[in-house]
Amino acid sequence: MVIGIKGKWIIAHDGEKPRLLRDGVVIVEGKKITHVGKTYNGKVDKWIDAKTHVVSPGFIATHIHGASAPKDKSFIDDVGARHFYMSSLGENLTALGKSIKPEDFHVFAKYSMAELLKSGCTTMVEIGMVGTLGPETTVKYIDEMGMRAVEGCNIEDGSWTRNQKANLYTEWLGIEHGMKLLDEAEKFVKKYDGAADGRIIAAMYPSTVDKVSAELQKAVREKANQLKCPVSIHAAQWVVEFQNMIRMYAKTPIEFLHETGLLGPDLIIGHGWAIAGHPLLAYPPEGEGDLKLLAESGATVSHDPLVFVKRGNKMHSHSQYLEAGVNLGIGCDTSPQDMLNEMRMASYTSKLADWSCFSGSAAEIHSSATLGGARAIGRKDLGRITPGATADIAIINMETLNNVPCRDPVKALVNSATREDVTHVMVDGKLVIENGELLVIDEAKLVSQVQKTTQAIWDRIPENHYLGQHSDVVSPQSYEPWDPDQ
Ligand SMILES: [Zn+2]
Repeated sequence: MVIGIKGKWIIAHDGEKPRLLRDGVVIVEGKKITHVGKTYNGKVDKWIDAKTHVVSPGFIATHIHGASAPKDKSFIDDVGARHFYMSSLGENLTALGKSIKPEDFHVFAKYSMAELLKSGCTTMVEIGMVGTLGPETTVKYIDEMGMRAVEGCNIEDGSWTRNQKANLYTEWLGIEHGMKLLDEAEKFVKKYDGAADGRIIAAMYPSTVDKVSAELQKAVREKANQLKCPVSIHAAQWVVEFQNMIRMYAKTPIEFLHETGLLGPDLIIGHGWAIAGHPLLAYPPEGEGDLKLLAESGATVSHDPLVFVKRGNKMHSHSQYLEAGVNLGIGCDTSPQDMLNEMRMASYTSKLADWSCFSGSAAEIHSSATLGGARAIGRKDLGRITPGATADIAIINMETLNNVPCRDPVKALVNSATREDVTHVMVDGKLVIENGELLVIDEAKLVSQVQKTTQAIWDRIPENHYLGQHSDVVSPQSYEPWDPDQ
């Protein structure tokens, strides 16, 4: 099957960098892009007429929690734990998480992929589905939804616990506990890498820098070198973690990853904002500090701005990391799982952090969401539209109420486009969205399932909150409910 796309703009790649091709064509044969140019005279089975659209590489989300993020929506907004520096890790999210029944994860997983595809996202680095749904079901769902996904098993030998009201610390479970999980993670990589017709990229997921001991981090490093698979860990993600790392090791999270050797070009760090020198931490860097360690290692930081914006916080800054030589990807972490929205947040938070209009430019952000993500997972064939690349493509209409007048489609993508403007999404040369319609799942049915499932979760919160609080106490309604007849 040969598919041709005629686009008003193509965000193409000239072999060195992204370039804008006006009134061009992209030809896809099987899974590959075979031609990018002004015209094409060969045989084409199906034309996609994108005459008012931009044709972009599909976005690569470098941090996703597909099974659990949907529950955050309308729940974590406007709330947080003051004593945890406004994070809801260890607080609201724990009660919400415990209120989910195993069957709920199935609905959420499919919904997350539907949300992401609709925002032009073609690849996700997803953490959590394997642990909640099991490997077989996870791979089956990804296969059905037509996405490309990096998946792996959780590895840790510590757990967060607390004494007193807010003294959260790591309780160590013993290295044997971690080594057993590492064995399972290795089995997953060996069995599932390349599954779903090559769309599964198997990885290893040591959970968080403060729940994986130095010994276990070294063992993960050794195994990753053998298996040659990507690794992702949560690190530098909240104030309590940063402070606990200083207390435990007298090292920042990034310094500790450097010391254990886990920091390397195959490592993706979610979220990586809590580094020495960040204004919220009052911890000055030594020399060039964490940014230099990150840059020299070739590791990727997944910039996932929305979840932190909700807490009044931001990375300092997208542009400063890039300038220091750090590879950045963009991810979601919370709901809505919308790459266009995260790209916008990444741009705006960078400008705010630097007090500068030059910071977080559309080109920087678009490149992080495509080429940065591809580099993060070691795939030179993704994140670009060029002959020989794999055909993961998003087509977005620029002549919509959101986007007119459009002069520069990259700026419009970052500053004004929404999911409603995404008309076609192709993964591995196959259309999963056509004319705005998801071809892989019944959207209306999915929406109704998600609403019902999540209502039941909210109703179970009092049983699982550490103070027995109801969902409307934990996360109050914006306006007090009112019944005029009462
Ligand atoms: Zn996360």
